[in-house]
Amino acid sequence: MPAALIDGKAIAKAVRGVVARAAEGLTARLGHKPGLAVILVGEDPASQVYVRNKVKLTAAVGMESFEHRLPADSSQAAIETLIDTLNDDERVDGILLQLPLPDGLNANAAIARIDPSKDVDGLTETNAGRVLLGRQGLVACTPQGSVILAKSVTPDLSGKHAVVVGRSILVGKPLSLLLQAENATVTMAHSRTQDLAAVCRQADILCAAVGRPEMIRGDWIKPGATVIDVGINRLETSDGKGRLVGDVAFDEAKEVAGAITPVPGGVGPMTIACLLKNTVLAAARRRGWDDPLA
Ligand code: NDP
Repeated sequence: MPAALIDGKAIAKAVRGVVARAAEGLTARLGHKPGLAVILVGEDPASQVYVRNKVKLTAAVGMESFEHRLPADSSQAAIETLIDTLNDDERVDGILLQLPLPDGLNANAAIARIDPSKDVDGLTETNAGRVLLGRQGLVACTPQGSVILAKSVTPDLSGKHAVVVGRSILVGKPLSLLLQAENATVTMAHSRTQDLAAVCRQADILCAAVGRPEMIRGDWIKPGATVIDVGINRLETSDGKGRLVGDVAFDEAKEVAGAITPVPGGVGPMTIACLLKNTVLAAARRRGWDDPLA
């Protein structure tokens, strides 16, 4: 029987519905809408699309969107000065610096400048460290969304064997920590892992965050496993439009897996939904208010 499709679009829409209600409550209490500031440096076409979507969806859930576009030849100081201004701006509850930055700019230094209480991407040392320590913080959006999708199929991940392929700071590492926090037994795999196919075959929950189109084949998957495909890779097509594929060979995998996320329409929409969720959380927490999502 082919795998069930994990509908990231629908689940993200439901998350945004909860966020919209929280934003409404916060707006009544604050006297203005919670706000998310997005900084885009340069003209990277993919980043422009991401930022456009974020701005659109921020407005759709009833939050204020502050868009800051800086030229590609901006200085490090100009970016950091803008971040300082946003840190001090009461109307701004979340700050997102769209990555990657143009060559020559230091993303780590810029991220470090963001007030951790407004770091809705969860990338500052403070928030990354809180995930490691199991303390309350703002959790990176893509790993957070991936866990929500896994739990939509298996609400209790306790004792499940999760294999995470990829150990980036943005996705793989925090995802492995979040899965451990759910009491899964986690194996981390990466480019030096030996016999990756055999490691993947052990997974009840297989998460791919590699950036290699369709690397994970159908016969790497344990029958009935849940597959969370984080990868977004653009393949060239003869009509020049290109096609997005994940890190998992979807057509093969769906014949073996129990449930699988499509690309697009899986993890991608969850990333933005969790960004909006983090923004309402940040708005409440930095004022010492109760969880607006509860
Ligand atoms: P990185 O390039 O930072 O990390 C890739 C990881 O994959 C590394 O840990 C690397 O191992 C590992 N890897 C590379 N080649 C292999 C291989 N042959 N076998 C096993 N492991 C390998 O990528 P990101 O984590 O930033 O992104 C991963 C994918 O997720 C990309 O396709 C990206 O576009 C997508 N993505 C999607 C998002 C979404 O919203 N859906 C958000 C963010 C990313 P090593 O450490 O040993 O080098």
